[in-house]
Amino acid sequence: MSSTARLDDGSAATETTVVPNGELVGSSAPASALTNGEHSPNTGRPLLGCCGRPACPDPAKIRTSDADSLAVLERVRRFGANNVSLDEREALRKTTFSNWEHSEYQLFLYLRQMYIDLRFPEQFNFDLETLENFLYDVFRHYNRVPFHNFHHCFMVAQMSYALTWINSLSEIYSPLELFCLLTAAICHDLDHPGLSNHYQRKAKTVLALRYSDASPLENHHLATTFRILSNPSCNIFRGLSPSDYLKAREAVVRLILATDMSRHHEIIEEFSALSGQVDFGNAGHRELLLRLLIKTSDVSNEARPFPTADRWIDCLLAEFFNEARLERSMGIEPLPTMDPEVVRKPQSQCHFISTIALPLATILAGVFPRIRDCYIGPIQKQLDFYSSVVRAETRDSKTAAEKLNNGDEEATTQETTL
Ligand SMILES: [Zn+2]
Repeated sequence: MSSTARLDDGSAATETTVVPNGELVGSSAPASALTNGEHSPNTGRPLLGCCGRPACPDPAKIRTSDADSLAVLERVRRFGANNVSLDEREALRKTTFSNWEHSEYQLFLYLRQMYIDLRFPEQFNFDLETLENFLYDVFRHYNRVPFHNFHHCFMVAQMSYALTWINSLSEIYSPLELFCLLTAAICHDLDHPGLSNHYQRKAKTVLALRYSDASPLENHHLATTFRILSNPSCNIFRGLSPSDYLKAREAVVRLILATDMSRHHEIIEEFSALSGQVDFGNAGHRELLLRLLIKTSDVSNEARPFPTADRWIDCLLAEFFNEARLERSMGIEPLPTMDPEVVRKPQSQCHFISTIALPLATILAGVFPRIRDCYIGPIQKQLDFYSSVVRAETRDSKTAAEKLNNGDEEATTQETTL
């Protein structure tokens, strides 16, 4: 039953909102557009984590419109068949791939091609129309937010796919395990509202209440995934036997939940407890490594060529800063890592790379040494670059302080002499 509530003070929402290119703009949405129910009265789609307070952003403003979605589908259908060249298929298997040069319908076709090249349709008995329907529903359930959008979905999926080829994972994993990895990567941020779990919990949103504060976003991405798959025309799992379906569902649940960064240390400790004794014959060990693989893919921007990575960092900061401003307007203290008054890009990058991205990749490289050059190499270069920027800034500020001090001394000396 719908429990839509509307603000009754008639005031206009003045909070910032986001547009697809990551810019922040002021919203003049009428308060009547802000809802707090389970489903939108306009679209019938489930609502995001709106909490109903005056500053709460309007979920309808970030939805990918039906017109945009249909335009992409129309181009996929027009240019779809055999439109991905051999060169492009090769490029998709590398960590250097960049999304920025491609439009959304091309990314859609590349995702489709990944399933085809891993021979999933014939192995799991679904046709290309079902695959297209599934990807179309995935596409339209990613929102127009600066970072957690369809391009991010693509990049995480593409890195999982590249790591699959680079490490010859098909020699270690069953086709079903790899099918789950790619599908989980594609679905791992479905319907992300551009506002983190910190916001969800502090603002007591619908999602936080629904999932009792436990990974509200990741549980929402999962629920959205299985709602899409519950439609027979989109169900790429429909050819699985009942026991394989249960295995696939469990795998996708564990993989998507693993992308909650609050579980990061727990997963790293789980791996450390193996003391380097990884046994690929052990299903638990294989599954743990899949979780590390999807996590590595989720934070893989720094492993990309610098121009690609740099643009993604700006997108992430735009989303963080948008949230921090919203939180401040609601009386919520933002996380220091998201606060525009605290965060400086070079320092933030040094911290993220040295505490998360590099240690995670180093762990994975212990098991899959082929990622050393293609994945760890670029991350290390980015760390070196940002460290040099921080050092230069520190030097400059020291020099400025010294100049200031010297100037003061000179002034003092002049005053005394006069
Ligand atoms: Zn993600």
